[in-house]
Amino acid sequence: MATPPKKRQVERRPTLETYEEFVANSGIMELAMRLRVLEAQRQALGLAPHDRELLRCPQCGLFEGADDEGVLFTSLKRHSRHDTGLRFEKLTDGRWFCPFCAAKVVEPAFEPPPGFWDT
Ligand SMILES: [Zn+2]
Repeated sequence: MATPPKKRQVERRPTLETYEEFVANSGIMELAMRLRVLEAQRQALGLAPHDRELLRCPQCGLFEGADDEGVLFTSLKRHSRHDTGLRFEKLTDGRWFCPFCAAKVVEPAFEPPPGFWDT
């Protein structure tokens, strides 16, 4: 009995996705939307931000803090956790509006604690 001819193997090369296909298939858009929802929930719960340093107005001294449960507060008295109820309002490019004295406050640069970048 004759053996059947071998099938010719077709070499399959991986196809390159377009950027749009990659974005559509990666799930990154769903992740970004989930992060937006989580950020809105964080704000609604009044929790302190984790994407920036806490603010302090150099003009009047109003500062942000976080209590033991991570809830954001602002105070004018050093070492006080009495919340004024005031919140800094974001302007543009790392600048904020002080709700107490109307000064513009520059967001402090992130300063990692010692050993932050060590692995
Ligand atoms: Zn101020």
